[in-house]
Amino acid sequence: ALAKKTAIITGSTSGIGLAIAHALAAEGCNIVVNSFSDTEADHAIAAEIAAKHAVEAIYVQADMSKGDDCRALVKKAAERFGGVDILVNNAGIQHVAPVDEFPAEQWDRIIAINLSSAFHTTAAALPLMKARKWGRIVNIASAHGLRASPFKSAYVSAKHGILGLTKTVALEVAEQGITCNAICPGYVLTPLVEAQIPDQMKAHNMDRETVIREVMLDRQPTRQFATVEQIGGTVAFLCSDNAAQITGTPISVDGGWTAQ
Ligand code: NAD
Repeated sequence: ALAKKTAIITGSTSGIGLAIAHALAAEGCNIVVNSFSDTEADHAIAAEIAAKHAVEAIYVQADMSKGDDCRALVKKAAERFGGVDILVNNAGIQHVAPVDEFPAEQWDRIIAINLSSAFHTTAAALPLMKARKWGRIVNIASAHGLRASPFKSAYVSAKHGILGLTKTVALEVAEQGITCNAICPGYVLTPLVEAQIPDQMKAHNMDRETVIREVMLDRQPTRQFATVEQIGGTVAFLCSDNAAQITGTPISVDGGWTAQ
């Protein structure tokens, strides 16, 4: 049902964003891959998605910490494919420090990339979606959009904030065939998380299985990571016709974290 729809996924050269790009390409969408860099490897990711799923895919460099870049990303996608149907706001960064030591520039950067970027891309994409009377916006929030952890003030604030944006946008366009939802993953096994495992093993003097179970997945009752494929599949579902009445809501994919 998503054949030839155009999907933009911000921050999609690795991890969750890359898996979402593959999941939507598998549904037949044309794909706009994005990150802040502009390397051969970036463009190769788009080429690989196009070849694997027999769709069209392009890489567009845009820095999600800059509002003008966010809006230019949507404009370039529309110029190439004639419109924008699906927008997935996925780009995100983290910084960990106590509030009274939190570097102000890190606070600004996290709010810009994890929250304000979604405002700018959404503002630019909505007129295009309204013109087609169909659209899907999926914001990748976090369990930290619903719960807090110490030392993650900017991240938790941005992720709580994006749930507010999600609800507000959903209400504004409810009668126009456009939905806006958020996905709240718990711990997802991305390359970034995988890379932390050896350090955690050393710090806690535990083997791999124990450090994953007792330390990393302490708050995730299933004691299993969510996979990037599961997040991609949830995005594809939210873009489907079966999800047309799901709007303005956070969907937790967190192994029971927020049931507690
Ligand atoms: P990742 O670091 O693997 O991917 C982040 C992507 O964003 C990369 O492609 C990176 O190039 C891009 N990016 C970073 N800064 C950017 C910028 N200024 N402009 C454009 N692109 C930029 O991380 P991930 O784990 O895949 O996270 C993706 C999203 O999922 C984030 O919003 C994150 O907060 C959220 N999330 C992740 C987890 C987890 O456990 N991994 C859990 C909950 C939520």
